[in-house]
Amino acid sequence: MTKFIGAHVSASGGVCNAILNAEAIGANAFALFTRNQRSWVSKPLANDEIECFKALLAERGFETQYVLPHDSYLINLGSPDEETLQKSRAAFLDEMHRAQQLGLQLMNFHPGSHLNRVSEEECLDQIAREINSALAQTQGVTAVIENTAGQGTNMGHKFEHIARIIAGVDDKSRVGVCIDTCHTMAAGYDLSTEMGYNFCMDEFERVVGFGYLRAVHLNDSKKGTGSHVDRHESLGDGTLGKEFFVRFMHDERFDNIPIILETPDPMRWADEIKWLRSL
Ligand SMILES: [Zn+2]
Ligand SMILES: [Zn+2]
Repeated sequence: MTKFIGAHVSASGGVCNAILNAEAIGANAFALFTRNQRSWVSKPLANDEIECFKALLAERGFETQYVLPHDSYLINLGSPDEETLQKSRAAFLDEMHRAQQLGLQLMNFHPGSHLNRVSEEECLDQIAREINSALAQTQGVTAVIENTAGQGTNMGHKFEHIARIIAGVDDKSRVGVCIDTCHTMAAGYDLSTEMGYNFCMDEFERVVGFGYLRAVHLNDSKKGTGSHVDRHESLGDGTLGKEFFVRFMHDERFDNIPIILETPDPMRWADEIKWLRSL
């Protein structure tokens, strides 16, 4: 098997439950929150929870490189507000540390927003500095930057933004990229046609490089290209359309990385995964 597919499953009741939820939908990859994604502070992972996670992961046949923790939505490493930045810094380090504790190699996050108070360049350079600081205090975990739809003042909707952040990171071996296909479409890269798909992937290779690709969020999009609106849709029901997913599944550049569904109907995940594998 060369495509590792799963979904962002619930870790409610503890991180071990995420493994069981992933298994139940026939996944061989998954994403999870390792803490409450809507609060600044979370209690540390208990030792028995960590041990349970590692043991169960191996027992159910998941490999650590296909598990993709996602950070809290509150974190803004690009924040021009000192208090928010300090809270974000602490929470981001905690997210990286938790991934390390769980024996994982990746931590997926949204770059940040400038809130119209600093320039895009200043914001991106600050994000890179914050990544450097977190990498220096952790080991073995790669900071995986997700491209965004470009809602509001969110950075990361142009591949150039991501390239600038990477350029500012000292340890290039521990920074990577997660392509969210809904965000990519909304950001203005039209993935619905063969020409658009090829253009987008060529741009990614030229500007960032597939060598940095560590994960994919595979979603259809409710809104059209360039809408800058982040609304995920079930596979084949949105503006990307079925043909996009056929193209994607045949594209070897997406082999051997976690491919994570964040589609809106969890009841359909098992069928969506089955359908992708049938392509
Ligand atoms: Zn995300
Ligand atoms: Zn995403």
